[in-house]
Amino acid sequence: MQIHCSYCGAPLNISRKQAEAALDWLHAEGKAYYEVRCPKCRKMNKVPREVLTRAAPTWKPQEAS
Ligand SMILES: [Zn+2]
Repeated sequence: MQIHCSYCGAPLNISRKQAEAALDWLHAEGKAYYEVRCPKCRKMNKVPREVLTRAAPTWKPQEAS
């Protein structure tokens, strides 16, 4: 999926694989946002969990055993 940098408006692509990895990380760390660096202005954009869930609709949390 594509989002836009909230600072400069540059398009930022998030692949399904990247979104799944981000959701794993959010789940493991208990964070609400994943940060993606804009390649153009190099600022960090916060991507909420719900946006990542839309990019990776089949992702399910893995419970730690
Ligand atoms: Zn930017």
